[in-house]
This record gives sequence, structure tokens and C-alpha cells, in this order.
Amino acid sequence: MSDCLFCRIRDGDIPCAKVYEDDDVLAFKDIHPKAPTHVLVIPKRHVATLADCDDPEMLGRLMDRVRHIADEVLGLQAGYRVVINVREGGGQEVFHLHVHVLGGRKLPF
Ligand code: 5GP
Ligand code: ZN
Repeated sequence: MSDCLFCRIRDGDIPCAKVYEDDDVLAFKDIHPKAPTHVLVIPKRHVATLADCDDPEMLGRLMDRVRHIADEVLGLQAGYRVVINVREGGGQEVFHLHVHVLGGRKLPF
């Protein structure tokens, strides 16, 4: 069994509130939301951090899916924020690449 939390969520070993899934990505609600809408989008393939990803096509698909999920699935036409925390210094706590999608209120920077 994988010791990666998001691989376990991907595999259905740990439940999540899924909002979108296709062959390449899974999106689910963050368990501690920082905005009215707070969704995590993960690639199904395990990559620990953005800095470890040497596959530009995978990153392109991931960001294309983020755009689709934000607009078409979550209905965030008013706007949203996309965040990727990288390594400990960047605030990353789960070492499976993931994109935070935040929206539903005005977001101060
Ligand atoms: P990071 O700090 O690594 O960029 O973000 C990890 C995120 O995963 C955090 O916002 C945290 O709330 C979320 N998280 C941690 N454990 C779980 C969990 O078991 N389920 C879900 N849905 N989110 C989680
Ligand atoms: Zn993983």
C-alpha cells in the first residue's frame, strides 16, 4: 500500500469529495477549505513536487484540466486563484503534486 496520501485517495482507499475525474487527473474538495470553493487537482501519476516533474506534456494537461474544472465544473467565472506549493519552504505538506483552486470570494493577495 502506498504511503502517499493522495495516491491513496486516487486509489479509493481514503474517501474524498470528488468533483471531477478523467484518465489523467482527479479533483476533490480540500478537507480544510481556505475559501468557499477550495479544490485540489492532482495528476493521477505520482510526482512528489512541481520541481520533480520533468514531463511538460503532463504539466500542460494538468493546467488545461485546472482551467476546465474551474470554469465548467466549479462555475468560477468571476475568477479564481491557482496555487502550487513547492517543497517545505513553499508550504507543501503533501508530497504528491497538486494544484489548489480557490474561489467564491474576493481573494486578497
Ligand atoms: P499543501 O500544503 O501540501 O500544498 O496542501 C495540502 C492540502 O491538502 C491542504 O490544504 C490540506 O487541507 C489538504 N488535505 C490534507 N489531508 C487531506 C485529506 O485527507 N483529504 C483532503 N480532501 N484534503 C486533505
Ligand atoms: Zn502520490
